[in-house]
Amino acid sequence: ATAMVACNQPDNSSTSSSKPSSAVDQRVDSLMALMTLEEKIGQMNQYNGFWDVTGPVPAEGDAAMKYENLRKGLVGSMLNVRGVAEVRKVQKIAVEETRLGIPLIIGFDMIHGYKTMSPIPLAEAASWDLAAIEKAAHIGAVEAAAAGISWTFAPMVDIGRDARWGRVMEGAGEDPYLGSKIAVARVNGFQGNNLADPLTIAACVKHFAGYGFSESGRDYNTVDIGTSTLYNMVLPPFKAASDAGARTFMNAFNVLNGIPATGNSLLQRDILKGKWGFEGFVVSDWGSIGEMIVHGYAANGSEAARLAALAGSDMDMESYLYVKELKGLVDAGKVDVALINDAARRILKVKFELGLFDDPYRYCDEQREKDLTGHPDHVAGVLDMAKKSVVLLKNDGNLLPLKKTGQKIAVIGALATDKDSPIGSWRGGADANSAVSVLEGLQQYTGNQYNYSKGAELVTEPATFLMEVKINETNKSGFQAAVQAAKNSDVVVIVLGENGFQSGEGRSRTDITLPGVQTELLEAVAKANKNVVLVTMSGRPLDLSRESKLVPSLVQAWHLGSQSGNAIAQVIYGDYNPSGKLPMSFPRSVGQVPIYYNHKRTGRPNDAGNGIVFWSHYSDEANDPLYPFGYGLSYADFDYADLQVSQPEKGKVVVNLKVTNTSQLDGEEVVQLYLHDIAASVTRPVKELKGFEKLMIKAGESKQISFTLGEAELGFYDNEGNFIVEPGEYEVTVGGSSVGGLSTRFTEK
Ligand code: BGC
Repeated sequence: ATAMVACNQPDNSSTSSSKPSSAVDQRVDSLMALMTLEEKIGQMNQYNGFWDVTGPVPAEGDAAMKYENLRKGLVGSMLNVRGVAEVRKVQKIAVEETRLGIPLIIGFDMIHGYKTMSPIPLAEAASWDLAAIEKAAHIGAVEAAAAGISWTFAPMVDIGRDARWGRVMEGAGEDPYLGSKIAVARVNGFQGNNLADPLTIAACVKHFAGYGFSESGRDYNTVDIGTSTLYNMVLPPFKAASDAGARTFMNAFNVLNGIPATGNSLLQRDILKGKWGFEGFVVSDWGSIGEMIVHGYAANGSEAARLAALAGSDMDMESYLYVKELKGLVDAGKVDVALINDAARRILKVKFELGLFDDPYRYCDEQREKDLTGHPDHVAGVLDMAKKSVVLLKNDGNLLPLKKTGQKIAVIGALATDKDSPIGSWRGGADANSAVSVLEGLQQYTGNQYNYSKGAELVTEPATFLMEVKINETNKSGFQAAVQAAKNSDVVVIVLGENGFQSGEGRSRTDITLPGVQTELLEAVAKANKNVVLVTMSGRPLDLSRESKLVPSLVQAWHLGSQSGNAIAQVIYGDYNPSGKLPMSFPRSVGQVPIYYNHKRTGRPNDAGNGIVFWSHYSDEANDPLYPFGYGLSYADFDYADLQVSQPEKGKVVVNLKVTNTSQLDGEEVVQLYLHDIAASVTRPVKELKGFEKLMIKAGESKQISFTLGEAELGFYDNEGNFIVEPGEYEVTVGGSSVGGLSTRFTEK
């Protein structure tokens, strides 16, 4: 075969399966045989495309250098190349002007939608609805895959226990079991079951690994965790995503126990590519190969490139170091050429699987873009996802659902008319201000007039992606009008929380209460009217301890995406009965953070029953969170009964129970099963989610539910990373939250 054969003559037989096939391997091999060392290293190089590639070719600077290397065949991938026209232009250079015509793989952070925006990932996780989450990911893939993008840097599967860390908005929360299920749903949603289908794109599981555990929740900070946490909490969602066939991984900015993730052989070579048998490729995080110098791990660029390549980082995102250093390192015998071959082969394989060699422009489809972007099915899909993501935290006296007629309603808060914040952080190709606001949603839903009053701003400056929101508003001049509106109404719907750019990358906060004077505004409004529905929007668990005492009804609405206002209207009017459950604990105070339900026991629990006086506690705050993991109310009520456990054979436990909807309303419940391994060779958490089922139960109806637990649920990882199942006693608890429920014990022989 010649290179031109590889590029120009489609061989359909070899790209029809999403599973790695030997036919693809053969095509990779025949192409590899034609490539020079420089060209192989070129495949390992990824450039950012944040410049106007449709304009004239730049004469100097970074962009000129990138163009030149692109023409020389020294670029394997680009990210942030925006839109079909730009992608076509760079792809044309790669395919027509380079010696071998190898197409680029184009990556982009399509995190929760491309144009039709789904809720932020943390919100989606609150749905516990895997089918809806998979569909939401697929909608994003379909829209991105027409706009030139063949690869998304998602899902982010970092476990998030620290609400101060702004990137918890990108993940699935604090639990590795729920996180694993959601990771798989997202990978399947992006990739489908056939990567060669041009409506799907390659997934990238990130950030490998430990990034969510940055000390004190400060982004990019040191990560120093024990092996028990690494194997049992951090790695499971990554393993699940790898097992599900995720094509690529991204490493991370952080050091993990002194070794940067990017230079970490244990993670990338031993665990990911070794033990787990991952066959895709690993891309560095942005500049993270170069950051190893700043970390104090590599003395210079050459060493950074060598350490990253040795550790199994296959592609360099924006450090420029692979292209600059790797050839010299190979020539000097410091990097084995086999490592370069392996990396290039992995990258080319994914390109073949995506069908890029058969048609390098298959992701550039103006017609598909026109037909499918914002398609009514997509709008319906993200609306469904948004409704399912809402979590009802409090509803005293059943103030909610509101009545559609006969109630005079005041709507208060800057976020109530905000059409931008609901799109959240990492907003793909979405247009600014393109979400349905809460006020619009309410008006459209009922056709009623609402008495709107802003009350106060959150922040003094409008936010943008690159501009950090820092300055909280102090102006209270709008309070009086808001209080008046509250007085003149039967019910107040007040929308408070965070601006969409107050969470996300680089957006860590030490104070996780409502920004600005919003809490004071709520105090004033709640004095004027008792019937207050507080809707909170945020990209993280907020400290709502003051606010929750002031209002009878509290609705956690996150940043819900394009259909935000419609979803909120349908929930608060009872058209959709809320079913979301928190994927992360909501603390009583930032001083409790990190706070998570699956913590270990101490030697000093307050329920030890041995008269312990100095139990592990704070003298100024309770130990438990304000709202725990797994918690969320419905307008219906559910009763749990008849918990029974049987053990048909060793390593198999069957748990049966009955759940009854005791209310007059149909509703969905997320039935959760938790295990506690009472005594083990490495201490186990007080509770661990090991099963859940979300089901609709009609008013008055009872449903019989059965969970089967196997070794995967009963076991855990020891401190060497071996999965073990130990005999002994377990406690099993079932309920609608991580707190409460029915419990019983069984012994595994
Ligand atoms: C982030 C990644 C992202 C990359 C490319 C980095 O700053 O950590 O999550 O995929 O940028 O935009």
